[in-house]
Amino acid sequence: MAKVTRFAPSPTGRLHVGNIRTALHNWMLARKTGGRFLLRIDDTDAARSREEHVEAIRADLAWLGLEPDGEERQSQRLAHYEAAFETLKQSGRVYPAYETQQELELKRKVQLGRGLPPIYDRAALSLTEEQRAAKEAEGVAPHWRFRLDHDEAIVWQDGVRGPQTFDPAQLSDPVVRRADGSWLYMLPSAVDDIALGITDVLRGEDHVSNTAVQVQMFTALGARHPRFAHEALLVGREGKLSKRLGSLGCDAFRERGIEPDALVALLARLGTALPVEPIADRQVLLESFDLGTFGRAPAKFDEDELERLNAAIVHQMNYDAVAHRLPDGMDEAGWHAIRPNLAHVGEAADWWRLVTGPVEAPAFSPEERAYLAEAVRVAQGDGLAVDDPWRALTGALKESTGRKGRDLFLPLRQALTGMDHGPDMGELLPLIGAERARERLARAASG
Ligand code: GLU
Repeated sequence: MAKVTRFAPSPTGRLHVGNIRTALHNWMLARKTGGRFLLRIDDTDAARSREEHVEAIRADLAWLGLEPDGEERQSQRLAHYEAAFETLKQSGRVYPAYETQQELELKRKVQLGRGLPPIYDRAALSLTEEQRAAKEAEGVAPHWRFRLDHDEAIVWQDGVRGPQTFDPAQLSDPVVRRADGSWLYMLPSAVDDIALGITDVLRGEDHVSNTAVQVQMFTALGARHPRFAHEALLVGREGKLSKRLGSLGCDAFRERGIEPDALVALLARLGTALPVEPIADRQVLLESFDLGTFGRAPAKFDEDELERLNAAIVHQMNYDAVAHRLPDGMDEAGWHAIRPNLAHVGEAADWWRLVTGPVEAPAFSPEERAYLAEAVRVAQGDGLAVDDPWRALTGALKESTGRKGRDLFLPLRQALTGMDHGPDMGELLPLIGAERARERLARAASG
């Protein structure tokens, strides 16, 4: 069945690797079933939401190749929240409360001091009409809480965690609306999930207790709740929630030359039973994507693993996909010669200098200079004007000097590229070309 999912960031900062993973998995869940993936901007907190972050979120998703099929903004949907709120008010599922922050804090302290869980005591529910009127007369505006139904256990079948059961009496009635009329996250999210036909809510396990509350909100609003799945959180290599992860975003990855496909390949399978592999084909990733493979243990994000995956992805990249990022003049053959040496596409320019020069060869001993002079002789005239000039050159030198292995190859590589290692010479020499090659050999031979 086609699933409708949403990624619902608050535009109060840039996306970090944890959000990116959530976005990716929602995209995958929808795409795998031919469904829809929506971007919902949770910007009810006007003071903390920034337009620049909204734009950055869109740009990051585009960079990752996770384009949404639609976008909604909570700040434009306030009338819907108002209507739902009215409904809940009519049915007595939201109630006004007048405690100040300090009063609530004090209640919590007292409960904790007695060894009790800090659950809201519902004092506001037992206020009489007169008491309420008195508060309002004092000018105290109420905030509003959702009244949990304590009669039945809250249950759902979680896509990752399996059957979940919560005792509503162990939860505080959540505040859904502040005294200034602004909305907290919980109710608008449920209202939107209903209105937008969200079939599956996939998010981090830090939302599990919110889900318990929201399950009741869906019911109170006369809707069936979507399927829920909560994935284990992402932690650093050391196994802890790291500050670094919270600040690692697409811009940082892009600057470091990480390919979106590498990040996607890693995050698609990290924390699942499937092996992390350098799979650039999204279709292949989609085919194996299955919430049933997700583990309950925190997923460890290892930057070294990402680097390894990146190199492997770069080695598979087609010329057409990277041409616009390559140095001028570097053609498909150049890309193929150099690609295996790259950890990042940006390094292509350094390697390309081996072709275009100038290269600086080391100082050679008289014996090596004599050998290189022999190479110059072989390379003369049409000596390199063959299909495989490297083979021709080394073949002739092997015969005339009796050298082999390292003695045969290394001085040539050094004279031709100025380096001890690098791209396959068989691929590189045709790119350097006969003329430049002869010059470089001659210069090295003359010391
Ligand atoms: N804006 C919420 C968050 O970023 C959305 C959570 C959800 O997916 O429901 O945590």
